[in-house]
Amino acid sequence: MRVKKQKRHRKIVRFYSACFGFREPFKVLCDGTFVHHLLAHGLTPADDALAHLLSARALLFTTACAVAELRALGAPYSASLSAAHQLVTARCDHEKRVSAAACIESVVAGGNSEHFFVATQDGELRKKFREDGEAGGK
Ligand SMILES: [Zn+2]
Repeated sequence: MRVKKQKRHRKIVRFYSACFGFREPFKVLCDGTFVHHLLAHGLTPADDALAHLLSARALLFTTACAVAELRALGAPYSASLSAAHQLVTARCDHEKRVSAAACIESVVAGGNSEHFFVATQDGELRKKFREDGEAGGK
């Protein structure tokens, strides 16, 4: 099961490398749900876990809005919050905080010039990116 998943991830990474000039180390933009998932499954240190999944070096990013969302969730997410603080903060221009999903969407909007992979456990957001990918071929 795990091996199969890894193989699929590798294929996706190869695809993006070939088609869009994604290069190692890959930049992975994580939201709070994903950070929480990594911790809950003991996938730490997170950059090692992702490097293993992608079979490539990975740099983890999050956004100020995603961190703010985690903070708002309070005590049950305090471990995820401090883990998120360890990540590099990708720039977003939201002076007033928006939801992590909206923020991440805006950071990769307009052609995803920073070449971020999006890592989320948010079902709606995953669905959205999948549909975009299939409809637009990108
Ligand atoms: Zn933002």
